[in-house]
Amino acid sequence: MLGKQGWRLLTNPNTLVAHLFKARYYPNTSFAEAQLGSNPSYVWRSILAAQLAILQGSRIQIGGGQQTVIGSAPWLPDMDNGFITSTLPASINSATVDSLMVPNQRRWDFNVVDDIFNNRDQDLIRRIPLNSRLDKDIWFWLPDSKGLFTVRSYYRMLDTLHSPPSSGAWRKLWHLHVLAKVKNFLWRAMANVLPTADNLLQRRVEVQASCPICHTSTETVFHVLVTSPFAKACWISSVMGFNGSCVSFVHWLEDLFSRCNIDDCSLTAMVCWGLWLNMNNKVWNDVKWRVQNVLNSAGQNLFLWQQARKSVYVPPFSDSAAHGCVCWLKPSIGWFKCNVDAAIVCSRGLISFGAVIRSAGGDFIAAKSDILPGSFEAREAKAIGVREALS
Ligand SMILES: [Zn+2]
Repeated sequence: MLGKQGWRLLTNPNTLVAHLFKARYYPNTSFAEAQLGSNPSYVWRSILAAQLAILQGSRIQIGGGQQTVIGSAPWLPDMDNGFITSTLPASINSATVDSLMVPNQRRWDFNVVDDIFNNRDQDLIRRIPLNSRLDKDIWFWLPDSKGLFTVRSYYRMLDTLHSPPSSGAWRKLWHLHVLAKVKNFLWRAMANVLPTADNLLQRRVEVQASCPICHTSTETVFHVLVTSPFAKACWISSVMGFNGSCVSFVHWLEDLFSRCNIDDCSLTAMVCWGLWLNMNNKVWNDVKWRVQNVLNSAGQNLFLWQQARKSVYVPPFSDSAAHGCVCWLKPSIGWFKCNVDAAIVCSRGLISFGAVIRSAGGDFIAAKSDILPGSFEAREAKAIGVREALS
């Protein structure tokens, strides 16, 4: 039912209830751009929780185009993302859609459209038929064939939003060339389970809702990592650039991953990680980095980690020995294999050893290395290595 309330606020802004909510929570914007704000009521918080799903399923059918703002409304006929993805100057972003039509005629001005939009947006705009009998821009509900909002289709939509996604950014995430902890962090950001103020408040933890850095907005994953003035400045200074037309962190990441190569996607993950550390540094140590600190440390850490990976690179495992080489063989299913080697430093009376354990699939499980005092023969040194590995 909260979904239905949200849909009404979006599509019937002239009702008494919509006026009340607008006056209290989003006096200068629309429901689509509304944020939690300070001291939100339980009802408003609940309605806003449905906002993303509502926006995901809502589209605007363009009539005269005067009521729809180019950069902040879902008016493109795309199932996944109804918002434009082109980076536009602010003046065009905030103009209404009728400015893309030939004056006094109900047809697109393709000279203008081709000039300012990227290929994806141009293509989608070409698919929008303009109807001279429809003057008002009207909202319709995408999951329903008649465009009408139903609670049933809303719940079906929630199911798809919350089921584990298997495409796009979600899949690409695991192929990034970054530390496992950064992948894990990014996954938690996408699943919106990071301990940001909005998530903590939802779990009834008493914290300040506002962002501790800019104090102008609620601290959400999207705000901290993308839309806050500091994050925005970082993205503008980076090679990835800034796309302000996305409605959520996942949308934003999907867009970025779809247009960047794997190295830039990996760098994106590191910058997100840096922005998150910066926010925590501010909260816990009252230390704030500058834009260049975040970008430099993201780039440097990525480079160092990738170099370190290259220097210990082991060729893919092969089950058969080729050209007389000795190749590593996987253990049987249900077993682990521990490989050990040792070195002797006679002059200093030391031995060193290294051990690595791998699974039947050839996956790394654990490793250990150390330097021990002792003057041993090679065979004994290896035996000590095995003992240490198993201890
Ligand atoms: Zn902020």
